[in-house]
Amino acid sequence: MIVEILTTGTELLLGQITNTNAPYLARELNRLGFDVLYQSTIGDNRERMAQVLSLALSRADIVITSGGLGPTQGDITKEVCAQIFKRNLYLHEPSQNKIKCFFAQRHAQMPQSNLRQAMIPEGALILENERGTAPGIIMEENEKVIINLPGPPHELEHMFKHAVVPYLQDKYGSQGVILSRVLHTYGIGESALEEKIADLIAAQHNPTIALLARPGEVIIRITAKGDTEASAEKLIDQLQQVIVPRISQYIFAFDDTPMEVAVGQELLHRNLSLSLAESCTGGLITSRLTDIPGSSAYLCGSIVCYSNKVKEEHLGVPQDILINQGAVSEETAIAMATGIRRKLNTSLGVGITGIAGPGGATAEKPVGLVYMAIDGPAGFQCHKYQFLGQRTEIKFRASQAALDMIRRYVRDLTLQEEI
Ligand code: ATP
Ligand code: MG
Repeated sequence: MIVEILTTGTELLLGQITNTNAPYLARELNRLGFDVLYQSTIGDNRERMAQVLSLALSRADIVITSGGLGPTQGDITKEVCAQIFKRNLYLHEPSQNKIKCFFAQRHAQMPQSNLRQAMIPEGALILENERGTAPGIIMEENEKVIINLPGPPHELEHMFKHAVVPYLQDKYGSQGVILSRVLHTYGIGESALEEKIADLIAAQHNPTIALLARPGEVIIRITAKGDTEASAEKLIDQLQQVIVPRISQYIFAFDDTPMEVAVGQELLHRNLSLSLAESCTGGLITSRLTDIPGSSAYLCGSIVCYSNKVKEEHLGVPQDILINQGAVSEETAIAMATGIRRKLNTSLGVGITGIAGPGGATAEKPVGLVYMAIDGPAGFQCHKYQFLGQRTEIKFRASQAALDMIRRYVRDLTLQEEI
């Protein structure tokens, strides 16, 4: 079944409010297996609304509108929809009583205009509004359906969940199930990743594959449609088994697991403790790790060592390294990692130093240059990165790279032990 979502309201076109109703409806309808092929947004103008509505009815089975059911002159959705189906409006007594009660309970005088909300197209089904006064409307005509929902999101969502979903399921039966799974990758660009699975993307049908670059990661979304949840799940599993071996070194998590959780799980699993010496990230890595409940099981502590003095006095970074190689250098990062590991007596120590900008750069050391080192049972490593972006983006990207460095170090420890 094809659905078109039609959000109404001039304030949406002016960009004065963010359209949350369309994504909400799209998400829920997709989950139920309906094909949302079009979304339109129109202002409170009768002519244009009638035009868009006719177009929507020509290409969709079901048109769901949001907004414009209220009492004011600008609220015209119901009238325009009734006109399209050539229905007259009549005063619906129960809705009128409900609106009167609504005002009486609040000891407020009901403006006469509010009765407009109780005007219902002939032959329409009425959806009670448990969160507000304007009832929702369903009109059926020659295999086409128009559903009018109120604009305020809490009213729309409640009505959709409790009245529209049962109606759709009753009328159209099961539309199958659409499921998605997300593979999170780090350390490979979007196009390089695409090349590795280009044949699968070219041949995709069900499941479909989508690549998306996001801050600090590239994700692969596998989406399948099946008759049941289990059959959709199986289709995803089969494709995942082909994809994963090709890119396993880059995958750090599935679905809703962020990098800091993936790293925490690795550390916990290996019973390893961690400490960090953070300069340019200013504690961001520690903050992300401590966002996760239970992180005290592996994270011992950190030092935000912004100045050379702290690097030297609290981490033991040798003065001659700071003078000769500089605070942003491989040698400093390594000395920070080994220094914090020794000081806090942890399995792993991480040091991170760089130039987040906009100032502080030189020709040899541009903004975005970051060194990060890790010291642990397998010795130390240091990685050099050149990040792009503004200060906060550089900090975030550096934190993501550092977390991935920890993840890979721990994974390699495990692999070495297995050999
Ligand atoms: P009311 O009875 O409150 O007038 P209504 O059904 O007539 O409801 P609108 O007048 O179109 O709906 O919108 C009312 C309010 O609902 C808007 O001011 C806005 O806050 C919210 N709203 C409307 N449409 C959307 C949307 N698509 N996304 C998010 N919020 C919306
Ligand atoms: Mg309104």
